[in-house]
Amino acid sequence: MKALYAHGARDLRLADCEAGPPGPGEVLLRVRRGGICGSDLHYYNHGGFGAVTLREPMILGHEIAAEVAELGAGVSGLAAGDLVAVSPSRPCGACRHCLKGLPNQCENMRFYGSAMPFPHIQGAFRQEIVALASQCVPAGGLDAARAAMAEPLSVALHAVRRAGDLLGRRVLVTGCGPIGVLAILAARAAGAGEITAVDVADRALGFAEQAGAARLLNTAADRDALAEDSRGKGSFDVLFECSGAAAALAAGIGALAPRGVIVQLGMSGEMTLPILPVIAKELEIRGSFRFHEEFAVAVAMMRDGRIDPGFLLTDTMPLAEFGAAFETASDKSRAMKVQLDFAG
Ligand SMILES: [Zn+2]
Ligand SMILES: [Zn+2]
Repeated sequence: MKALYAHGARDLRLADCEAGPPGPGEVLLRVRRGGICGSDLHYYNHGGFGAVTLREPMILGHEIAAEVAELGAGVSGLAAGDLVAVSPSRPCGACRHCLKGLPNQCENMRFYGSAMPFPHIQGAFRQEIVALASQCVPAGGLDAARAAMAEPLSVALHAVRRAGDLLGRRVLVTGCGPIGVLAILAARAAGAGEITAVDVADRALGFAEQAGAARLLNTAADRDALAEDSRGKGSFDVLFECSGAAAALAAGIGALAPRGVIVQLGMSGEMTLPILPVIAKELEIRGSFRFHEEFAVAVAMMRDGRIDPGFLLTDTMPLAEFGAAFETASDKSRAMKVQLDFAG
């Protein structure tokens, strides 16, 4: 059985890996699809991000769909052959944040494919993996490609929860990569009013349009694209900042109306922001990090057809072509979501 290890920047290697038999409460899974995420790309291109760097080889990957191969003792509700979406979120359930009902803030989180702790938490880009049955959400009726999108969709649903009531609200989304586009889908599902999408590439804005954004603004073509929305005290109720670019955050702050809410999802390092309008317009800045219970919600919303993120998938490549897959995923002019196919 093979797994995809990152040894450092631009150094990926396919190597053998063992998956033991499933213990009590566990299942052995045969991985079918794995989506390449922004964090995987940071490890691939730079060996990490900010203070988080690879200090030992780490299996990448946390967006997977798999087939149940074998059940451990005491597992119910799953059967061999079931397609499942696998949550990479493994909180301890015992620290004070878990006990407060904030499992995504767990002190001892073992999130797949993360170099934040040391030893690093090994990821899920492998042909077989033993997981807790509680991580597996049955995805019958979905294809493996969509089931593997439950993870990024959960990130967007958590952000929508952080934003609070969206019913009829004017929403601005800056940065239309996979998370920005999924935030548009999630905001629409939560009843948002008019959604305006901002990016520096028309191609990304095309995906935002497909997701249901009513207005598309290219700030590379027109630096003042938000001028009208920023007149007076601004006009948007909620900003989902998904680019991690300081300029986008500053422009969004200028376009938010008094008491507007900023949900910051984009993460590319430290940012400076104009604090005076935050004070004067009484804006609220809210972080949004990962998810937990939203994972099952994401699968349910896809299964009943309320959200279909399938159009985000631009490329699927076999595991053996991991090099080409990571190169494609790194090139935003070609790719939106790239998945690896682990079959065979
Ligand atoms: Zn992800
Ligand atoms: Zn915990």
